[in-house]
Amino acid sequence: MIKVLLNKDKFKYDIHSLVKAFYPKEDVSVLTYDEDKCREAIEDNIVFMIDISLMEEEGYISMKIIHNDNSETFARTQCAENDLESSASTNGSTASLSTPKNALKQMMYRELSKEIGHDLPWGSLTGIRPTRIPMQMLDAGKEEAEIKSYMKDTFFVSDEKTELAYNIALREKKILDDINYKNGYSIYLGIPFCPTTCLYCSFTSFPIVTWKKKVNEYIACLEKEIDYVADAFKGKTVNSVYIGGGTPTTLEPDQMTRLITYLREKIDLSECREFTVESGRPDSITREKLSAMKKCGVDRISVNPQTMSDETLKRIGRQHTVAQFVDAYNMAREEGFDNINMDIILGLPGETEEDVEHTMREIEKLGPDDLTVHSLSVKRGSRLAEHIRNNGFFVAGDTGKMMEIAKRSAEGMGLSPYYLYRQKNISGNLENTGYAREGKAGIYNILMMEEVQSIVALGAGTVTKRVYGDGRIERCDNVKDVTLYMNSIDEMIGRKKRLFD
Ligand code: SF4
Repeated sequence: MIKVLLNKDKFKYDIHSLVKAFYPKEDVSVLTYDEDKCREAIEDNIVFMIDISLMEEEGYISMKIIHNDNSETFARTQCAENDLESSASTNGSTASLSTPKNALKQMMYRELSKEIGHDLPWGSLTGIRPTRIPMQMLDAGKEEAEIKSYMKDTFFVSDEKTELAYNIALREKKILDDINYKNGYSIYLGIPFCPTTCLYCSFTSFPIVTWKKKVNEYIACLEKEIDYVADAFKGKTVNSVYIGGGTPTTLEPDQMTRLITYLREKIDLSECREFTVESGRPDSITREKLSAMKKCGVDRISVNPQTMSDETLKRIGRQHTVAQFVDAYNMAREEGFDNINMDIILGLPGETEEDVEHTMREIEKLGPDDLTVHSLSVKRGSRLAEHIRNNGFFVAGDTGKMMEIAKRSAEGMGLSPYYLYRQKNISGNLENTGYAREGKAGIYNILMMEEVQSIVALGAGTVTKRVYGDGRIERCDNVKDVTLYMNSIDEMIGRKKRLFD
């Protein structure tokens, strides 16, 4: 465990995320002096302790790293309360800083990278949307050189990730400039059922076998939510629709048709640029379902292998084979889908770089239009975290090298990166990147990730986001429990009414 002590109850979340980025396998505990009962001694289970003093009024922040053998390192930096540039000195080096938070993170980054002996690809950035920085700067009319140096000098982002974030921001901006998103909104419908639960799952997901008899009742609740949206958003343009989950293709063809037909009857989708249905699990896909979706105007689907190794698929509880995935993908092509996304995950338990090479070779034979490359994220308390604890193995290879292999292969297939996000506890402290062919980029993904418009989310466990004109964001959620969601559907709608009134 790494213990961080603070003199003020401030920046706890940022400090936790940054220390965790350096030490992903360690438990990190951030406490204020008041909360800590034993700050005098380092307990046996503590790797080291960091003592941080935020002295903003006096214009400085200091930190002391106290190792287990009682050796100490000390650093101090100046900070400014406002956005005025000032100079900070940390162990002899200087850097420009603006706010106490930036000054603190810069100092911590320098000291912790010395402790572990290397830098992090995303530097001190710990948020999930690093592309928002170049996006906002592009919107403010900043030039390429200024944007790139800001990312490198302020957040210590590597050259490679700076380039990636900048290029993605450029591409996103080009796509968004072509959509009248400021006056529009998008709709998300959540189907929280899956054939089985994957080992690494962090989504709202319940086994379809248990819920089969309740699915029609669930759809009726979605229809009630659709009625609300039709009324509340009358006259507004829908830019994209995304049916996700869970696994939406656990719905039978008639249920899928009923849901989409109802949506189309109630809400004008004539301006809708993209209608996606996640058909992630190949073991849930049939020709009848694909045909039903096609007839209903679905124009983008996602069929996800995650890996092309049967052994890994079994290990992660997917309960489908590589052959089943290939059949489902080919069937989707035969049914006329010309925008198919695939998801893969790097850093799956036991996988090596060779496994990723193999996965990419197999994917190249199929030629998806869109490929999302995820780095595995291990949620605390998840089945995967428990599995790792019990089985003692995690990533058998280097996730950074795996990412390189996937990137090379994606680019070789003519796909370019167009959106990017990071997650907590992400393998190798890397990112998830969406690659797509020209004209096939997932519009919903960009709108959602850049938080540039409201997304109305229907279904159990979904989160609705209202984006105001000044960029402010407010959210409301629907409960995760399916029974509770159905029993309290009026309250779920009430929450949206209060958010949008
Ligand atoms: S398919 Fe997706 S939502 Fe369903 S269990 Fe697997 S990870 Fe979770």
